[in-house]
Amino acid sequence: MSRRRCCGIVDEVPLCREFSPHMQGGEKPVVLQIEELEAIRLKDQKGWEQATCASVMGLSRPTFQRILQAARNKVAIALVEGRAIIIEGGNYVMKNRVFECVECRHVWEEVPCTEGGKHGYEIACPKCGSMKKMKLENGAKQACGGEPQHNHGGCCCGGH
Ligand SMILES: [Zn+2]
Repeated sequence: MSRRRCCGIVDEVPLCREFSPHMQGGEKPVVLQIEELEAIRLKDQKGWEQATCASVMGLSRPTFQRILQAARNKVAIALVEGRAIIIEGGNYVMKNRVFECVECRHVWEEVPCTEGGKHGYEIACPKCGSMKKMKLENGAKQACGGEPQHNHGGCCCGGH
């Protein structure tokens, strides 16, 4: 039985969802959750302070620490044992994101809450169908079904 976890706020959907070693066969792949990759991105790629990362993702520091630790452990296993990494699933909330179509200037807002599935880079302009779009920064309006509360260490979003 898997433990329920707090929703982390994720800004970007990963560009690549599957990494596989040159060597085929062997152990089964490790599955890295979207919010675990986000934790690595903020802490290890951007080099932000843990407190900053936690607040950006809307998590308490201990929760962020747990997610980061799990993420690093999975990546380490994959590298050491030559396993593939699959990035999918997890409990996370997309930042609300507003796009402007380059072709027709239509502006629309992307649905903020998703769990896995198609999202982000595949979306086309709902008006003209163009894939050319710009992302407009509008900060994070956080929404995930109910009213998430991110100021404690427990799980914040019921129903996940
Ligand atoms: Zn358009």
